[in-house]
Amino acid sequence: MAKKYVYFFANGKAEGRADMKDILGGKGANLAEMTNLGIPVPPGFTISAEVCKYYYDHGRTYPEELKEQVEEAMRRLEEVTGKKFGDPNNPLLVSVRSGAAISMPGMMDTVLNLGLNDETVKGLAKLTNNERFAYDAYRRFLQMFGDVVLKIPHEKFEKALEELKKEKGVKLDTELDAEDLKKLVERYKQIYKEEGKEFPQDPWKQLWLAIDAVFGSWMNERAIKYRQIHGIKEGDLLGTAVNIVAMVFGNMGEDSGTGVAFTRDPNTGEKKPYGEFLPNAQGEDVVAGIRTPLKLEELKNRMPEVYNQLLEIMDKLEKHYRDMQDIEFTVERGKLYILQTRNGKRTSQAAIRIAVDMVHEGLITKEEAILRVRPEDVEQVLHPVFDPKEKAQAKVIAKGLPASPGAATGKVVFNAKKAEELGKAGEQVILVRPETSPEDVGGMAAAQGILTSRGGMTSHAAVVARGMGKPAVVGAESIEVHPEEGYFKVGDVVVKEGEWISIDGTTGEVLLGKVTTIKPQGLEGPVAELLQWADEIRRLGVRTNADIPRDAEVARKFGAEGIGLCRTEHMFFEKDRIPKVRRMILAKTKEEREKALDELLPLQKEDFKGLFRVMKGLPVTIRLIDPPLHEFLPQEDEQIKEVAEQMGVSFEELKNVVENLKELNPMLGHRGCRLTITYPEIAVMQTKAIIGAAIELKKEEGIDVIPEIMIPLVGHVNELRYLKKIIKETADALIKEAGVELTYKIGTMIEVPRAAVTAHQIAEEAEFFSFGTNDLTQMTFGFSRDDVGKFLPEYLEKGILEHDPFKTLDYDGVGELVRMGKEKGRSTRPDLKVGVCGEHGGDPRSILFFDKIGLDYVSCSPYRVPVARLAAAQAALKNKK
Ligand code: ADP
Ligand code: MG
Ligand code: MG
Repeated sequence: MAKKYVYFFANGKAEGRADMKDILGGKGANLAEMTNLGIPVPPGFTISAEVCKYYYDHGRTYPEELKEQVEEAMRRLEEVTGKKFGDPNNPLLVSVRSGAAISMPGMMDTVLNLGLNDETVKGLAKLTNNERFAYDAYRRFLQMFGDVVLKIPHEKFEKALEELKKEKGVKLDTELDAEDLKKLVERYKQIYKEEGKEFPQDPWKQLWLAIDAVFGSWMNERAIKYRQIHGIKEGDLLGTAVNIVAMVFGNMGEDSGTGVAFTRDPNTGEKKPYGEFLPNAQGEDVVAGIRTPLKLEELKNRMPEVYNQLLEIMDKLEKHYRDMQDIEFTVERGKLYILQTRNGKRTSQAAIRIAVDMVHEGLITKEEAILRVRPEDVEQVLHPVFDPKEKAQAKVIAKGLPASPGAATGKVVFNAKKAEELGKAGEQVILVRPETSPEDVGGMAAAQGILTSRGGMTSHAAVVARGMGKPAVVGAESIEVHPEEGYFKVGDVVVKEGEWISIDGTTGEVLLGKVTTIKPQGLEGPVAELLQWADEIRRLGVRTNADIPRDAEVARKFGAEGIGLCRTEHMFFEKDRIPKVRRMILAKTKEEREKALDELLPLQKEDFKGLFRVMKGLPVTIRLIDPPLHEFLPQEDEQIKEVAEQMGVSFEELKNVVENLKELNPMLGHRGCRLTITYPEIAVMQTKAIIGAAIELKKEEGIDVIPEIMIPLVGHVNELRYLKKIIKETADALIKEAGVELTYKIGTMIEVPRAAVTAHQIAEEAEFFSFGTNDLTQMTFGFSRDDVGKFLPEYLEKGILEHDPFKTLDYDGVGELVRMGKEKGRSTRPDLKVGVCGEHGGDPRSILFFDKIGLDYVSCSPYRVPVARLAAAQAALKNKK
């Protein structure tokens, strides 16, 4: 038997079904399904997407069987419609429409009113007794066929139409009468001639050319680009199907029209029909903006019966598909036809509300609701967004990496101090820097948003901004920043200090001028409910990375179950600390150093008390000092001079220290546990602060604390052994002296590949592991995470890497080290607690992997906590399957 390529649908019976999207495409499968449901769909047939694949595999030719199957289907269509294709007395007209398994709105082509020619148009006019309508259909067909099939620029047709309206002195297409439209048809034909193209009068020729054009549109530039942007790969889809559908006419007068309807409001999610309707119109007129469409409710007044029937159908479709539907309909002289249905696109806010409402309505399960909402949707509703109207009007001047989501607008400032001053004065500012460093943190906190021209997704600016929940665009390489001169430049646009810009940290866009932002709704209502369901389902714990009580508080509100990473050095940058830290660095003897550390101890102890208080009873992982010491000292002569003066040392002395601390590869240099091995007294001070804080809270406030002391950058078990002994002695002595009972743990970050490989040895000492996947990625690939901007974009473009490994975990390499490290660690210590504290801890695709390999928890920045909760629940559901 010949292979079946054509699937017919008519009068309540279809050969296809909704679950045949692969071969019928979304549009075709749903036309078949609606037909079977008894919904009024004009009859037609779908040519399988398998033909599209064949077409491209065989040098743009068709399988032998196709011609006969199409001819047979057209015969059946003639039979059910009682019309004949090409018959001047009673012509059958069809639309030829594209439609792939994944909807690609507007990317491919459609031709309406096919079958018209100089003869059939007369027949249509006579038959309908409506000459105006017939010639309106004909001129539309000539335009669409010319544009879509023969590639005549559509502006030519539009210009001819505009000119005619001007000559007639009218504004609207509908004001043109039959004679005008006849004239237009002649002018359109003239355009064909000028373009050297022939309009085929033979309907069969028209049909096959249109089918070619639809299959051809699968590989047009727009469609290819769309698939690229949406990560649809070649091989994911067979191609597009072709739908050939008997025409129904919305352009037959005021009792006709065409419209679009959503079963719920796609902006807010409210359960209320939403849509637009345009009387006496066809096809895309509604969206084309030629005339202003009416609100859907208007239909209630104009055609109450049609309106009620539409509502019934919408309800039926939504219950059937169990999701919000986006429907295209046409009314022909008071009779309603449905031409398309699909799951409607929606805003993040609507996605969440619809999913939660549908659970309450008993339409879907909690699990389905969880899988339907994208983790980004949860993030989106927690951040400000731009007013869409203003944004559409603003000029995008550059694009960088979307490092920290949300919209921000403010006056440009180039230095952190200035940002702080203006921020205090109540001004909105955007801090623009080539890159940021720890000294800029105060200015970053005072700014509405941060823009840098260098750096990747884990650069200082990106990490800190995410921690603060502050919008940031980083690595906008097309921008030249001149902080000293007080301007930045991109192309020939120059923006001076004090001028307004806006940044979108969700998309990476940089916009000129002030764009109003809209406040987020916060973790209330439907999103809170959805996350509660997620908590019931997820297996992974979710902690937060937080260095100060304010961040910890935000994270608690967002549902964090502890702190997975507290970076103690961030505390050292505070104004009252940094001089003491510098004195410690400048100390020439151990005694001097201890003296400086003694001054830091009470301050650091207070910091920890603050964190412990917020995290009442929950685990708090504190990492001992990590960055190389040079980060605490000024680098430029001018600042060195200033600081030397403050510290009462000579410029030369300080400059000398700065020079001595310079390293060629600071990322691989004297940092992490290497520092505390050289200067154990720093570890001693930090241990005293941590344990002292826990003891005092327990004694004074009755708060239980479970401190987890984490040693960074361990590669060899002996490093850990050495430091653990010192830390343990210090802690135990304090606890004994205080006479309280306190449990604490000493563990390590696994971020050097050697640590993952020797995890069974390291677990002899470590009581917990936390994978620091930022450094682990950097060292496994050998990619400096601050310099990836130079080559990573190209890697992604050329398909050498599928994902940015600093954003989403490299499963095969870095992921394998994590899996192996966990296995090896547990082989030594079966109850070893294992978590992740890199940026990947907040990335849904990475979370899927961490759940699969059985980690205990992930830790991420406060604003990612809700995202991680949802992603962890999705991971649990997906990994169960
Ligand atoms: P898209 O995928 O871009 O939405 P469609 O194939 O759905 O393209 O068609 C474009 C427009 O033409 C839509 O408004 C649709 O409702 C209308 N249309 C398509 N087929 C017919 C038909 N047989 N009769 C009347 N209008 C149609
Ligand atoms: Mg459509
Ligand atoms: Mg690290």
